[in-house]
Amino acid sequence: MSLSVEDRQQALQRMQCEIFDLVVIGGGITGAGVARDASSRGMRVALVEAADFASGTSSRSSKLIHGGIRYLENLEFGLVFEALSERQKLFTMAPHLVHPLKFLIPIYRGGRVPAWKMGLGMWLYDALSLFEAPEMHAFLDQKELFHEYPLLQKRGLTGGFTYYDAYMDDDRLVHETLRSARAFGAEVANYTRVTGCCFENGKVQSVECKDIETGLQFNLRARHVVSSVGPWTDVLGGQFWSHWKPRLRPSKGVHLTFSRERFPLKDAVVMGAENRIVFAIPRHEMVIVGTTDTDFDEDPAEVVTNQGDVKYLLDVIHQYFPGAWITSKDILGCYAGVRPLIDDGAQTESKTSREHEIWTETCGITFVAGGKYTTYRKMAEQTVAQVLSFFPIEDQVRFAHSQTLAPLNPLVTDVTLERARSDSPYWSQMSQLPTEVTALLADRHGGEALAVMRSLPFSQERDPWMWLWCVEAIHAVKHTMCLHLADFYFRRTPLVLSRADHGMAFVESVAAVMGNFFGWSESRRREEINALQNQVHRELSATFSFDQT
Ligand code: FAD
Repeated sequence: MSLSVEDRQQALQRMQCEIFDLVVIGGGITGAGVARDASSRGMRVALVEAADFASGTSSRSSKLIHGGIRYLENLEFGLVFEALSERQKLFTMAPHLVHPLKFLIPIYRGGRVPAWKMGLGMWLYDALSLFEAPEMHAFLDQKELFHEYPLLQKRGLTGGFTYYDAYMDDDRLVHETLRSARAFGAEVANYTRVTGCCFENGKVQSVECKDIETGLQFNLRARHVVSSVGPWTDVLGGQFWSHWKPRLRPSKGVHLTFSRERFPLKDAVVMGAENRIVFAIPRHEMVIVGTTDTDFDEDPAEVVTNQGDVKYLLDVIHQYFPGAWITSKDILGCYAGVRPLIDDGAQTESKTSREHEIWTETCGITFVAGGKYTTYRKMAEQTVAQVLSFFPIEDQVRFAHSQTLAPLNPLVTDVTLERARSDSPYWSQMSQLPTEVTALLADRHGGEALAVMRSLPFSQERDPWMWLWCVEAIHAVKHTMCLHLADFYFRRTPLVLSRADHGMAFVESVAAVMGNFFGWSESRRREEINALQNQVHRELSATFSFDQT
């Protein structure tokens, strides 16, 4: 399942001369899902992404596959049911990317939601998952909580509920979905921006594209076009039609990251803050705390964390974990994203619905926006079904069968993943790599891990972690169309967010590996390193300069 620079070249060539059944604009999770669904039905599909895949909202989420416990309060039962049923499917479709995670909701005296109501919500949550959650919810009394969660604020704590949802690697979920779409025959190209649209007799004929890497401009012809550009929906709509009426109410969300040593959480904790909730989410290497929810009407590409966001999240941490003494100096990293919410006229950002909307303009362009990561497969299925309703009946029959419930990566199923995990100590003996390194490769790549390991022989003079990120870089360029060093650091690995040095200890070696592959000159290599460092500085500057007074 290759997705390399050669695949990109081939895709761009085909895009200049063929007519596709469907052109998908945007390579976040929504576009990737639509491309996979449509190509799995046998449609000829082309997907173009303006920057790196998943560089928009789809690498900036809370990284949860969840029903959304808080939507129960808004009585959005349909949304929660759909999300919980998709969660169940994703456990088997992508066992290397979606993992069960236990959550605690602590209950405090005088809290916004009384314990009885929370208990009712917990039963409802289990029922809406058809009692298929990894474990059912449980109540813990004050004594059990003091023992199990010693860092929690003890004053006013009366009890708490535990329940299960899941965490994931959001960016990698996009890459694996695109690899699968490619395996079904879709042509995909990143760094290819749609700049306009050509109509004939009121019908869309093609979209105008620009290859950002070379400057090449071309027309990409299609029978139908899907716009899945998330928070850019109104920008693209405005580019196509001068009379476009905005549909979105974009909202900014920020997360901070901490090392697990400094903030030792064993389960995720749900914290209440000003009528919304903030999660503290432990995952392998770090704890992620977020998110904020504030209206955002600037260019989504420019979204960054500011000092107000940092202060808001640190205040919530202090309120719930006063004894942890977390300060801004403990922050490893941060990231900000823009939710592409549909404007439903709600009073506040956090009350705006997370439902998605799909609508088709008479010219043959279908828009899909809003929704959640968790439901991307379902959204994609509904989008393609709507697209097909505009096709002749024989095509509707021909393309009726979608295959999106198959594993995203046939080399990574429950069985191959377990096998890789149990083989990893043996790999470690054979290769003289530490078991932590081989275990991490097994977890990330399941049945593909051995192939990843074999791409670069390990010699004992090398630092094993350095070697690890070099083989990951080789995998990224061959199988995820990774074109730039910053794209590797930000969206193929957790390096920027999980390490105090943001992975800079490995930068020369990784740049050398990528440079060898692409034939970069010494000056190009330096440019790539500078671009990475500038991006780290731009995105993380609020935490570098946070003023605690
Ligand atoms: P995007 O990921 O933004 O993709 C759109 C793409 O279109 C971008 O890559 C962009 O470069 C591209 N594009 C734009 N213009 C053009 C053009 N002219 N030509 C070509 N390409 C173009 N959901 C969950 O289920 N769980 C969570 O835990 C969760 N947490 C969240 C936390 C935050 C802070 C935020 C902001 C969202 C969260 N969500 C979560 C929601 C989820 O992340 C989004 O719904 C989802 O990522 C949206 O994906 P998308 O593909 O629609 O948009």
